[in-house]
Amino acid sequence: MGMGDDEGDVRAAAAGEFDVVVIGGGPAGLTAGIRCRTHALTVLLVEGRKLGGQLAQLYPTKYVKDYASYPEIRAGYLADLMVHHAREKDLDMLEDASVKAVERLREGFLIRTDRGDFRARAIILAVGMGLFEPSRLGVPGETEFSGRGVVYAVPNLEIMRGQRVVVVGGGDSAVENALGLSQVAHVTLVHRSAAFRALESNLELLERSLVERRLETEVVEIKGDRHVTGVVLKSSKTGSLETVPADTVVVNVGFSPDLSLVRTLGVQNDGRHILTDGPAMHTNVPGIFACGDIVEYPGKSRQIHPATGEAFTAAEEAYKFVKKPYWAKST
Ligand SMILES: Cc1cc2nc3c(=O)[nH]c(=O)nc-3n(C[C@H](O)[C@H](O)[C@H](O)COP(=O)(O)OP(=O)(O)OC[C@H]3O[C@@H](n4cnc5c(N)ncnc54)[C@H](O)[C@@H]3O)c2cc1C
Repeated sequence: MGMGDDEGDVRAAAAGEFDVVVIGGGPAGLTAGIRCRTHALTVLLVEGRKLGGQLAQLYPTKYVKDYASYPEIRAGYLADLMVHHAREKDLDMLEDASVKAVERLREGFLIRTDRGDFRARAIILAVGMGLFEPSRLGVPGETEFSGRGVVYAVPNLEIMRGQRVVVVGGGDSAVENALGLSQVAHVTLVHRSAAFRALESNLELLERSLVERRLETEVVEIKGDRHVTGVVLKSSKTGSLETVPADTVVVNVGFSPDLSLVRTLGVQNDGRHILTDGPAMHTNVPGIFACGDIVEYPGKSRQIHPATGEAFTAAEEAYKFVKKPYWAKST
């Protein structure tokens, strides 16, 4: 059954009741859903935006270079493969359907989405950063030219071929976007600090690339008429201003997570992440499990591999919780 296709939606909505509802359709949610289906559980996965999570929504054109079995693979394609796998497992999936609230019932949970309500005996939370928004620069021209030259992700390198692009930010997202875009465009990378905050391997590539680097420099205004035409930069060392011509400004200065759902669930959290109770991905609420970027524990790494590993464990625990097999320790 399919990702948000009509037949699938109707089937899911008609059933209305599932062993497990997985909230979030990134690598963690898809892996949890796949493993739950291997246990023949009835499962609904609800994704508020696009299946594939950050890979599909934030960096589809970037190569992922550390996912075992693919020396390098475009993130968008890796996400497609995960979604394909989930479909092959007959996982019911709703796309563009946000979970607005979860209510505890005497037995199980009621999951309220903007496309209907569903019941589940267990929930796997795989919501990443929640329904996050990219952080803004907050400079004149940014809102005015949003979508008209100001973007927060690079869905497709080709649309920027031959352009003058200014990438703003100093972390891996900005550096990787700058490197990718330098294959097709003239790129200036602007960062307000004295050094980039990215992986050594990315910094080495940056050193060898054609990307023009401006450190200790801030964007103070985005200029244009109907579309972006340039960016005003200010040196934090000298205070001097300079206008750099640009067709596109890619803003990669982080994200504002939206954890309103997590906060209302009664699961233990530190204001930004869910605190799981040991390595079995239990939350403090019986029947609610969590995995992926949303969880926090000592040594947590926010990458695809740990997210999928935790998701597998969360699915195992959800299975034991729902089916209570004789061989499992009671959970
Ligand atoms: C630019 C960038 C590059 C990266 N590169 C790499 C890399 O090369 N290698 C690597 O291993 N990792 C990389 N990462 C990190 C990796 O993408 C994350 O660790 C991974 O996506 C976490 O998966 P997840 O499923 O936990 O969360 P996500 O991928 O964030 O998925 C969570 C999903 O939940 C949905 N959701 C949230 N709230 C709700 C709600 N209320 N209702 C319904 N749906 C909801 C969201 O829409 C989202 O699709 C990168 C991250 C970024 C930003």
